Amino acid sequence: MNLDPSSALVLFSGGQDSTTCLAWALSRYRRVETIGFAYGQRHAVEMEVREPVRRGLGALSADWAARLGPDRVVPLDVLGEVSVSALTADLPLGTRPDGLPSTFVPGRNLVFLTFAAIVANQRRLKHVVAGVCETDFSGYPDCRDDTVKALQVALNLGLEARLALQTPLMWIDKAETWALARTLGGDGLVDLIVERTHTCYLGDRSRRHDWGVGCGACDACRLRAAGWQRYRAGT
Ligand code: ZN
Repeated sequence: MNLDPSSALVLFSGGQDSTTCLAWALSRYRRVETIGFAYGQRHAVEMEVREPVRRGLGALSADWAARLGPDRVVPLDVLGEVSVSALTADLPLGTRPDGLPSTFVPGRNLVFLTFAAIVANQRRLKHVVAGVCETDFSGYPDCRDDTVKALQVALNLGLEARLALQTPLMWIDKAETWALARTLGGDGLVDLIVERTHTCYLGDRSRRHDWGVGCGACDACRLRAAGWQRYRAGT
């Protein structure tokens, strides 16, 4: 199947990383669509901020508005049934006996990237963009560069396709992710990410900090806050 080289499908969750990835794709490709997954997250807040964030990106730039195509949400509730983690069940946040964080959802990114690749191939979207990061993250093995590269090979073989999995955040840390957002969309994009995106593992939307909204104590909030402080110190 001929894929359109100036098109992309962005895995978009409504968080800081995937919003930055969506802006990155809108700056680079003429046709950009988004995909999200409902997998029985304990907190569905991320799903609720997706559309306001998409609209906010379109409002920042007429070019981006023209390039931004349809969104789709794929129900994957079965993932929450077979893959137990602190994000899908009422388990404490912390570290598992094998050293991985309890928020690790086994197989999640493998499943997401596979479904995204199926959709991208059918819609002739060449690039599949994901906000996974090896540098500054909790050590999820399916966020690593080798995992993504191996999966690209498997998907292209199995789908008889030439998709390209793009991971613009793979080698940058959270401070550099804020800086990338500023480069892509100026302070307007930084403000949109602070105000609208959701990162907190506990789904807390009641506490406002200078880096955004969240509990301020979970791993995701602490990572986001520390990155923001390093970013602000450098600007
Ligand atoms: Zn939090």
